[in-house]
Amino acid sequence: MKLSLVVPCYNEEGNVRLFHDTAAAVFDCEGYEYEMVFVNDGSKDSTLAQLKKLHAESEKNIRIISFSRNFGKEAAMYAGIQHAKGEYICLIDADLQQRPEVVAYMVRRLEENAELDCVAAFQEQRIEDKTLSFFKSSFYKLINKASSTTFMQGASDFRTFRRNVADAVLSMGEYHRFSKGLLSWVGFNTEYIPYQVQDRASGETSWSFKKLFNYAIDGIMAFSTAPLSLPLVLGAAGGVISALYLLVRIIASAFSLYDSFDRGTLIVFLVLLFGSLQLVCIGIVGKYLAKTYEQGKNRPIYLAREIIEPKEKDKKDE
Ligand code: UDP
Ligand code: MG
Repeated sequence: MKLSLVVPCYNEEGNVRLFHDTAAAVFDCEGYEYEMVFVNDGSKDSTLAQLKKLHAESEKNIRIISFSRNFGKEAAMYAGIQHAKGEYICLIDADLQQRPEVVAYMVRRLEENAELDCVAAFQEQRIEDKTLSFFKSSFYKLINKASSTTFMQGASDFRTFRRNVADAVLSMGEYHRFSKGLLSWVGFNTEYIPYQVQDRASGETSWSFKKLFNYAIDGIMAFSTAPLSLPLVLGAAGGVISALYLLVRIIASAFSLYDSFDRGTLIVFLVLLFGSLQLVCIGIVGKYLAKTYEQGKNRPIYLAREIIEPKEKDKKDE
């Protein structure tokens, strides 16, 4: 098996057949064996029924992993990579925003260059909302400053890699997964190619601003402990400022320059300021503690309710 297409699907009833047909049209011309690994991430619509229908009707190698509930795209990608049998593994969305033709090109690049382990696509121009675009580019700037792992601006999960990369990613069993970071952290030789994101074939994105924001926080926390140093920085800065303030007051009173500043207001202001700064710091520590606690429970990244193997395999097993 040359290529596995790992396709996470959450409420994609209008897209899975179209994805299958489009991908088949592209890869049938490429002349190598490939499979489609669809991961149904607890869809609430008829995605699973559509996938089963496809599995029954299509002659292609189709594997379906259906989760017991919605575990998120990260868990779906993990499960897909785990079940993929291909020499090359491609992470691609079900909504055809990422064209299968680009995957064929990625495979060609890997075939041409034995030194290359991964070909990743990045968006040269964002076609989305300006505010969202601003937040996304600020996120990349922030995470690159805060983390020693490099995050390529505009890079998505859309990439094709060899088994060595897949095994490395699977070896990281962390519960809160941030694939863009994991794939960068594992290293290996990666080539970035620009691509143009298409409009969604059908349906709507399942990423609200809040979901994206939380995902960004998860990403920063998974790849940087810099926020944990914030109390130290704030404490040190606060200490220096207080010492300077005290010094100024002593000197001022020595020269009888003491003004009639309302000390009550100042004290209330300082108590509130340092009180809230302390709460922010405790909150940051709490966030990390919560992640550690959740990881400590060692719960599985996903639970599958049903796994359907390709028909070809069924025949061979008989
Ligand atoms: N997805 C998923 N689980 C989720 C949310 C999304 O498997 O909880 C899948 C979705 O079906 C799609 C891919 O992840 O194939 C990307 O999602 P979406 O298109 O909503 O995100 P966007 O392209 O807007 O970033
Ligand atoms: Mg999409």
